[in-house]
Amino acid sequence: MNYITVHDKTFQPFLSEGEIQEAISRIGTAISNDYADKTPLFIGVLNGAFMFCSDLLKSVDVPCEVTFVRLSSYNGMESTGEVRSVVSLQEDIAGRDVILVEDIVDTGLTMQKALANLGALNPSSIEIASLLVKPDCLQCELDIKYKGFEIPEKFVVGYGLDYDGLGRNFKDIYQLKQE
Ligand code: 5GP
Repeated sequence: MNYITVHDKTFQPFLSEGEIQEAISRIGTAISNDYADKTPLFIGVLNGAFMFCSDLLKSVDVPCEVTFVRLSSYNGMESTGEVRSVVSLQEDIAGRDVILVEDIVDTGLTMQKALANLGALNPSSIEIASLLVKPDCLQCELDIKYKGFEIPEKFVVGYGLDYDGLGRNFKDIYQLKQE
């Protein structure tokens, strides 16, 4: 097995580049069908979703726009439960069809806060597209319309996801190895 080391931890292969791209292509097709007569505005949540957002847009074939916000709730491998907005939205989203693009939904608190904040700006619609979801960790009701994979409650890195800043550059996704 091709283990990787990030900081002090060892990770094992979990989702391959091929599996990831296949899931993204499926989501892109679904979005293209659902927004056939619309011009959605994708809002990528930095930093983790930058790679997913980039590949997702390439698989969408309706006219669309993209922008980014930066939210933060994680410290190392723990969700702090407190969501901070670090870079806020510059665009006017009133009347727009917004698709929030997230790398992973864990407790769901980040997306819940983002939905509340963006919802107050009167978009025409808001949906969530998340590459990964940890259903066992959800702490709130969240309707995630577009999701790539439901995964177990284990820390993952790669494909944009980091462990204390490192590991985002891997093409595949790796899971924390059992000690
Ligand atoms: P939530 O608010 O849903 O608990 O957390 C969402 C954020 O936590 C994600 O955007 C991501 O930054 C981080 N996160 C949650 N689980 C993981 C994980 O397994 N690996 C990494 N690298 N980040 C995670």
